[in-house]
Amino acid sequence: MTFEVTILGCGAALPTLQQYPSAQVVNVHDKLFLVDCGEGTQVRLRQSSVRFQKIGHIFISHLHGDHYHGLFGYLSTMRLLGRKTPVHVYAQPALEDIVKLNLRISESYLGYDLFFHATPDAGSHMLFEDHSLEVWSFPLRHRIKCNGFVFREKQRALNVKKNMVRRYQLQPSQIIELKKGNPVALSDGRVLNPAEVCQAPPRPRSYAYCSDTAVYPELASWISGVDLLYHESTFLETEKRRARETFHSTATEAAEMALRCNAGRLLLGHFSARYADTAAFAEEAKAVFANVVAAVEGETYRVG
Ligand SMILES: [Zn+2]
Ligand SMILES: [Zn+2]
Repeated sequence: MTFEVTILGCGAALPTLQQYPSAQVVNVHDKLFLVDCGEGTQVRLRQSSVRFQKIGHIFISHLHGDHYHGLFGYLSTMRLLGRKTPVHVYAQPALEDIVKLNLRISESYLGYDLFFHATPDAGSHMLFEDHSLEVWSFPLRHRIKCNGFVFREKQRALNVKKNMVRRYQLQPSQIIELKKGNPVALSDGRVLNPAEVCQAPPRPRSYAYCSDTAVYPELASWISGVDLLYHESTFLETEKRRARETFHSTATEAAEMALRCNAGRLLLGHFSARYADTAAFAEEAKAVFANVVAAVEGETYRVG
């Protein structure tokens, strides 16, 4: 089952020819979610193989322009492409006012339903749920209100092996009970335990997105054990003071969070335009957390 993240933008506030502001597509079992929508999101989507119209849910971390200035164009393009199915936006409540003002002033319409869902300021809250996935928000520590998001697969049911269904002539009602983890009685009086005939389902995987944030130890409780952690590293340690002033993190601090929350792998992003080479971020982080990579736009990273 697919669970992966495609990076559309991993630069900080100043776009360059190499790096666009924050945006990424999370693919969970072929359902697509857009996370942040900085300027240039549409261009990067065109360059990737991601289909615009498959995205129905957009999560915006906060209302600094480098995380949502691409949204107006993106919503408008979906109308031009003939979208009819609804779009859900999860963000700080003010974004609804901003988007509606923009539509009103330009006398534009969308042609599809647009729903806004407010991201809560404190604690961890489930924003989205379907049969196989949950998406939760949690607060980050930034200059303005800011949320991170964690995508968690749900635990799948036990699977009864096909050859066992044949061997024991299992009926649908017995299969349902076995999948629930209950023993069933066979016609000869023998009791069949799930462990004898079932295959354990794969371990649920998870992905956390944390951009933008200063050092925030409380984070670990909300993203504990994630398989992949995207954490901002706007600066290197040499600019630690600047990181403090702007409520951002260094690569070392991102690695310390990966260690603290016991992440499987760390993906660094939100790089300041002052650095020409992002390899230095992974190098710095490696001293604290070995399984780390600096994000590259257009690349796709597997979760788990
Ligand atoms: Zn930012
Ligand atoms: Zn910001």
